[in-house]
Amino acid sequence: MRKQEVVIVGGGFGGVKSALELAGHSSFQVTLISDKPFFEYHPLLYHTATGGSKVVSSIPLGEIFSEKRIQILIDTATKLDRTKKSLTLKSGKKLDYDILILGLGNITNYFNIPGMSEYSYGIKSLKDAEKLKAHLHQQLTDTLKLDTDYVIVGGGPTGVELAGALPDYLKYLMKQHGVKSRKIHIDLIEAAPRLMPRMPESVSRVIYRRLIKLGIKIYLNEPVQAETANTLMLDGKPIRTHTVIWTAGIANNPFFAENHFQLSPNGKVLVDRLMQAWPGIFVLGDNADTPYTGMAQTALYDALFVTENLKRHADGKRPYAYKPRKPIYITPAGKHWAVVVWGKLHIYGWLGWALRKVADWIGYKDLEPWWKATDRLFADNRREDNCLICATNVVAID
Ligand SMILES: Cc1cc2nc3c(=O)[nH]c(=O)nc-3n(C[C@H](O)[C@H](O)[C@H](O)COP(=O)(O)OP(=O)(O)OC[C@H]3O[C@@H](n4cnc5c(N)ncnc54)[C@H](O)[C@@H]3O)c2cc1C
Repeated sequence: MRKQEVVIVGGGFGGVKSALELAGHSSFQVTLISDKPFFEYHPLLYHTATGGSKVVSSIPLGEIFSEKRIQILIDTATKLDRTKKSLTLKSGKKLDYDILILGLGNITNYFNIPGMSEYSYGIKSLKDAEKLKAHLHQQLTDTLKLDTDYVIVGGGPTGVELAGALPDYLKYLMKQHGVKSRKIHIDLIEAAPRLMPRMPESVSRVIYRRLIKLGIKIYLNEPVQAETANTLMLDGKPIRTHTVIWTAGIANNPFFAENHFQLSPNGKVLVDRLMQAWPGIFVLGDNADTPYTGMAQTALYDALFVTENLKRHADGKRPYAYKPRKPIYITPAGKHWAVVVWGKLHIYGWLGWALRKVADWIGYKDLEPWWKATDRLFADNRREDNCLICATNVVAID
C-alpha cells in the first residue's frame, strides 16, 4: 500500500514532536520543512542572552533526527494550493502532500511603535539572544563602560525572566572586564496595571516584590510611545538608553493570512475538534485558536493529539476529539528562584526553581533520549562569553 505523504512545516515544538511521533511508522512518509537547521528551546533563550550556553536553547535538527527515517528540508513554506494539495517553498521547490501539519509559531509584533523595530533588541530567537549578548559586550569593549540604563519592555513571563537574570550578568561582565562598578538601572515597563497580567493577582504581587528586591525599577500603566537610537519615550518622558529589549508583543505567523485561512479575532487559525483548518490540514501550537495556545506544553500536546489520531485513522479506528489541557506556568526570576502556577497551587522560591529544572529536563526529553536531555540540562551550569577578552573562557556560574 502507498504510504501517505505527510509534510510538516516548522521545526519548533509542534513540528519536531509531530515528526518524531510519525517517523518510521509504516503508513507515513514524513518530510519536515524548517527555515532553520536547529530547534529553538525558547524557555531558556533569556539564559543564553545573559551568558548561558547556547546548548541549552538550541538543538541541531540533524541531532534530534539522527536515528529517524525522515526527510528534512531547510527552506521556508510560502504558498499553499489546497485544491492541488501542493506547497511551494521559497527555493521554488513544490511538494505534494496527503496530510499537511503546520506549526509555524509566532512572530514579533511591535504594534507600529515608531523606532521599536529598528532600535530595540529581542529574545524571541537564538539570533536575537546572541545579538543582545553581543551588544552588551560591544558596549563594554568599545567604550569600557556599560550603558547606565537597561530597559525591558513587557512585564509578561519573558520580560520577568530577563529582568531577573540581567543584574547578575551585568555585574559579572563589569568584573570580567575590570570596569569599575557603577550604578546601573534596569527598568521593566508594562502597559497593564500589573506584572504578568494573565496570572492571578497574588502572583503578580509576589513577582513585583521579588524584582524590586533584585533592584529592578518597575513602571506599570506605561505604554511605550517611541524609540530613537539613544532614547525611549514613555508618555512624553524620555529614558536615555542604547539598550531597549522588546518582549511585549507577538502576532500569528503571516503565512496564514497570506494563504487565506479562517482566523479568529486575535489572528489565530480556527480549527475543528480534530485540529483541522481544512480537511487534511492540521494547525498546531501557537498558530491554532485553542484555549492554551502560546505555550510550548500546548504545542507538544497538540502534536501528540494530531499524530495519535493519524495513527488511529491508519489503523481504521475512530479519532479522538481535542480536549484542551491547562499548562503549568513556571517563571524564574533571578538565581535559584521561580514561581510555579499549577492550577490553584502556587509555589515560590527555590522549590519553584527546582521544578523549573525538572520541566526543562522533561522538555528536552520530549525530543531526545534521557541521557542527552540530562547532559543538556547540566550544560546550563556553564557561562559562555563572546568578546575577545572573554573568548577563552567557559566559566562556572556558581
Ligand atoms: C522567550 C520565550 C520564552 C518562552 N518560555 C516558555 C516557557 O517557559 N514555557 C512554555 O510552555 N512556553 C514558553 N514559550 C512559548 C513557546 O516557546 C511557544 O508556545 C512554542 O514555541 C510554540 O511551539 P510551535 O511549534 O507552535 O512554534 P515554534 O516552536 O515557534 O516553532 C515554529 C518554527 O517554525 C519555523 N517557521 C516559521 N515560519 C516558517 C515557514 N514559513 N517555513 C518553514 N519554517 C517556518 C520557525 O522558525 C520555528 O522554527 C516561550 C516563548 C518565548 C519566545
